[in-house]
Amino acid sequence: MKTRIRTISFYDRFACDGADCPQTCCGGWRIPVDEASAARYRKEGGLLGVRARLALSRGEQPSFSRLAFHCPMQDPDGLCSLQKKRGEKFLPEVCRIFPREWANLGSFVERTLDLSCIKAARLFLEAAEDPDGGLAFREETGLWEMPRAGDNDDPEFLAMLDKKRPEVLKRFLNGSIDTPQKLDDAVFAIADDAKHMQNSFLRTDEGGMHRIRLFPFSIMLMNELMSTCFYEDHLRYTARGLYRACRGYYRTFDRMTEIEGQKKLDALTERFFAADGPVPLSAFVRYFAYCLIRSWFDSYEDYSFVRRIVEAAIHTNMLLLFELLAMDRGEKLDIPARASLIASYEKRAFHNSDAMDEMVKQVNARFV
Ligand code: SF4
Repeated sequence: MKTRIRTISFYDRFACDGADCPQTCCGGWRIPVDEASAARYRKEGGLLGVRARLALSRGEQPSFSRLAFHCPMQDPDGLCSLQKKRGEKFLPEVCRIFPREWANLGSFVERTLDLSCIKAARLFLEAAEDPDGGLAFREETGLWEMPRAGDNDDPEFLAMLDKKRPEVLKRFLNGSIDTPQKLDDAVFAIADDAKHMQNSFLRTDEGGMHRIRLFPFSIMLMNELMSTCFYEDHLRYTARGLYRACRGYYRTFDRMTEIEGQKKLDALTERFFAADGPVPLSAFVRYFAYCLIRSWFDSYEDYSFVRRIVEAAIHTNMLLLFELLAMDRGEKLDIPARASLIASYEKRAFHNSDAMDEMVKQVNARFV
């Protein structure tokens, strides 16, 4: 079917680094296998078929890599044995698509890149230098055959969401946010608006948002986020960089009282965002905006406008925390190192609904 297709500006620059990838998506998580691919692997003959069948988990959703270490179909040369022997079409759907992601809203489709891929994260960071900041969409009309994800059919509501997003993004991307306090104010304002909108759609009359510190969150809230199932000991094997970043957090703050921890966090933030600090605030504003861009139309299905903002605030805070700690250790993160941090964080958080639910609950307890 022909439809309008919008594509984020750095999307077309993506090409998989394959065996040269320093942080391959073949490890660190379970790889879901769609039913059609699983059926193909069950029928495949020879050693490849035996290997694929042994690698496939049983249960409701077949997957590779039950232990989330490395995909059992990956060969010692870093390449996928399925792809090498039978071509790209033989891969599970998720491996064929990743890190490209799309939302088919019926009247249009949006395509973005998932930053859990280190190459996509790098392209995202590099695109900050583009004249439009790298977050503009190109629109064209083309054929689209992938099905719609949800089933809401309310064109007026979709048109309202579509109109609202550029207005919201403009607040963040017009260059006026130059202090953490201004970022706080902007996020609070859109969250409060979102709450009222949510109330009117869901016919609830909950009050507005509570004013809390958002950038960075208080040390108590950071601690609560770090105490969710986001951090688990197996990260030592599945995401070593992220594991080191989390251990750095515990080493720094574990023995401090709340007051000491808050002072340390404040001092780090002040140093980080000083004129000669390692990364400008605008980089975090831009990341916050991209989180909103990617999740914005999820509200078309669940009307949870506030959740989108809370999630984006969590992601931005967690990355900021890890970058503050890196600065404290005297590490200078260049673009590849920052891309690695973003990719390992997103792999762990964006695709881990249990961790996200727990984190959102902690923030909501104070903010909503
Ligand atoms: S993480 Fe990205 S670049 Fe690396 S192997 Fe996967 S898709 Fe390719």
